[in-house]
Amino acid sequence: MKHQYFGDINDYRKYGLIRALNGVGLLPTYLCWMLTPDMSGNTDGKKLSYLSNPKIWRHFDPDLFDFLQDEIQQNARVINESTLGGLLPGTRFFFQFLQDAAELRAEYFKELFHNLPRNGGLLFFDPDNGLEVSSSRKGTKGSSKYLYWDEVVTAYESGHSVLIYQHFQRVKRKQFIRKISEKATAETGATIFAYVTSHVVFFLLARPEHLDHFRDANEKLAQQWHSQIVVISNEDVVIQPTCPFCNLNPTSIIASNDHAQAVYDNYPVTPGHTLIIPKRHITSFFEATREEQAAMLDLLAEMRLLLLNPSQPPFAKGRSQIPPNPPFLKGGVEAVPDGFNIGINDGAAAGQTVMHLHIHLIPRYVGDTTDPRGGVRWIKPEKAPYWKQL
Ligand SMILES: [Zn+2]
Repeated sequence: MKHQYFGDINDYRKYGLIRALNGVGLLPTYLCWMLTPDMSGNTDGKKLSYLSNPKIWRHFDPDLFDFLQDEIQQNARVINESTLGGLLPGTRFFFQFLQDAAELRAEYFKELFHNLPRNGGLLFFDPDNGLEVSSSRKGTKGSSKYLYWDEVVTAYESGHSVLIYQHFQRVKRKQFIRKISEKATAETGATIFAYVTSHVVFFLLARPEHLDHFRDANEKLAQQWHSQIVVISNEDVVIQPTCPFCNLNPTSIIASNDHAQAVYDNYPVTPGHTLIIPKRHITSFFEATREEQAAMLDLLAEMRLLLLNPSQPPFAKGRSQIPPNPPFLKGGVEAVPDGFNIGINDGAAAGQTVMHLHIHLIPRYVGDTTDPRGGVRWIKPEKAPYWKQL
């Protein structure tokens, strides 16, 4: 862990997770930061814009949100025990810097294990990268960014449930989580829980005597951090599925405003088929606040203009130049929409499959179907051609 990342969006989720697992002091907690020096000229340590958007972000953990906002406003991008202590009752911290050299590393862990509370609890490891990889042997350059399996085993066997920060590698996430979970079970016999966020995953190796505590904590966590932290257990129960619209690829976002963002549909019904998605995870249009509804309608209008005139200058922040593909061609020329269907599938009975509200904006082109009459009435094909019943 590096001080320079303190308070960013990933930290908000991280502290939220620790607070939930700690259960407001129910389980003695020890945080081993595995501190490494800050890097100069590295801009990774920003990602703070969520703090100026309390409507979207504060409700996950209001006390934590306010705390981080205060800390960042005071420009305190350094973690220390006195500031964090109030937020994490019953928690102690290990602040020493970890070095690459094998002897120094051995001393570091000796000191850590010597300082651990005897009665056991939750021990969190926060390496820069995560668990060891075959390309980085202990003691070699860069090895301080990793946690090694023998250290995990020692920690677990000293009576602690172990929580580990893990950066996602460029691999299939599901397989990666399964692989690490299997390895962790084989090494320790622990019950494994994985907490998946958009960029990182945390593995919890839970001791049998802490299982009831963690199962309770997981239930609350899944409610509280819905859409931001997904809890998976090696009991093969997915407590909460991932929401694709809460985890949009930033490069796919065409435009956005305070409460909504627009992307092209991955399975376009017609060229330019666009989705308007609220930033907050809500299922129904009728759960959205007036402000959110207004923001969605603003963006809907904006996207329509963009589809009608692709070359117009951007007037929303976050606009990127993503062309709708493939374009609808008429006589070899890219066609401009002649009309639109606008629709919301509100509820499973209405055909909603992604349970995060979205408005479809479907451009229509003269000739894109043999007879367009009836439009959205075609949700019930036998009732759509009402003119046949006249
Ligand atoms: Zn969602």
